[in-house]
Amino acid sequence: MAIHNIPTTFRIGGRDWKVGFKDSIENGEVFARWLDNKAEIQIAYKAKDDGELVDCDEYQLEHSFWHELGHIIQYYSTGNTDDTFAQTFATFMMEYNQFKVLR
Ligand SMILES: [Zn+2]
Repeated sequence: MAIHNIPTTFRIGGRDWKVGFKDSIENGEVFARWLDNKAEIQIAYKAKDDGELVDCDEYQLEHSFWHELGHIIQYYSTGNTDDTFAQTFATFMMEYNQFKVLR
């Protein structure tokens, strides 16, 4: 069952990816990460803010998912990743999901 408006699995680039949640990742230094060898996106419930682990809100959790998916799409299409693309992709997808109309 999907939580936080984030899928548990999806298929991109001919691979079946899974999404997992962790309390924190890399001691709270990152919000999320993607693991190509495991075909997995990991999203942290907490991240560091001014040196202290703080709960991520729903927007941040979903934005982190789209950010990591942006990395995967860019990597599988160009062989590179960069945070500028991933952040822009994530923000566009958040906007798309907020304002789409299904009739
Ligand atoms: Zn990134």
